[in-house]
Amino acid sequence: MTKNVKINQVTVISGKGGTGKSSIIASLAYQLKEISILADADVDAPDLYLIFDPKETEQFSYYGLKKAVIDKELCVECNECRDSCRFEAIKESLTVNDFKCEGCSMCFHVCPENAIKMVDRVSGIYMSSNTRIGKMVHARLNPGEESSGLLVAEVRKLSKKEAEKEKMKLILIDGSPGIGCPVISSLTGADLALVVTEPTLSGYHDLKRILELLKQFNIGGYVIINRFDINERISNDIEEYCKEDFPVIEKIPFNNIFTQAMIQKKTVLEMVSEDVDVIEIQRILRNISNFITSHDKIL
Ligand code: SF4
Ligand code: SF4
Repeated sequence: MTKNVKINQVTVISGKGGTGKSSIIASLAYQLKEISILADADVDAPDLYLIFDPKETEQFSYYGLKKAVIDKELCVECNECRDSCRFEAIKESLTVNDFKCEGCSMCFHVCPENAIKMVDRVSGIYMSSNTRIGKMVHARLNPGEESSGLLVAEVRKLSKKEAEKEKMKLILIDGSPGIGCPVISSLTGADLALVVTEPTLSGYHDLKRILELLKQFNIGGYVIINRFDINERISNDIEEYCKEDFPVIEKIPFNNIFTQAMIQKKTVLEMVSEDVDVIEIQRILRNISNFITSHDKIL
């Protein structure tokens, strides 16, 4: 009988957007390409495709909330449905505005003529692709659709399947920012979380909220302070705050190389430079990958 190899999952998150999380996970994925696959679970603002130029190999429809559809043949225009819809999704013409319909089914239940059906709605797609660093699983929501933990769960399920197929022992997950349902979904079942923050008041505030969430879900995590030198006082406060439960493992100085790499559709580790500051940042990024692979939760 074949023994199942454990696939470890590391989720990289940030309390807020714009901390450089995606640039950091892109470099980790590049460094660990021989043993990992990449999952972009930041379904609201996926940006790893900009760096890795994925070529789709498989695509699936994502069905989000159902939507209401009114059968005009059966409708007697009593307006019960319009009056009961608290999202004002039913127009005067007694047709449903798909962008406003939240799929709550209230209209379906109140209609005396059974003229309303709740039907599946394709809210986006998720796919698996080939890239220069191997397999990547990612998603795209249709315009107007809100991000959803369910779509993140689909991305994670597919990445697990791909990791098994490719015999990879690690999945690197780019989680959604914030503390809502999508981020919880990107953390559920993770072996380890890496939290990227920056030393601003809002960054610090959001970091505290995300660390509370990790505690609640009993997920071990570590913190990386990006651009730590833009405010060393707050950086020190963050280090002090985190030292008990979620230690800071690396502090990355501010450097334009992150933007330059994005523009050139490369990871920071792929940038060729003799600048000592850039070489130092690349060393830090490699350190973080080594930290992951040598962590006792990652076998
Ligand atoms: S509740 Fe039913 S019958 Fe009444 S207007 Fe709406 S769809 Fe038509
Ligand atoms: S399903 Fe809910 S949101 Fe959609 S039209 Fe009916 S009552 Fe409104």
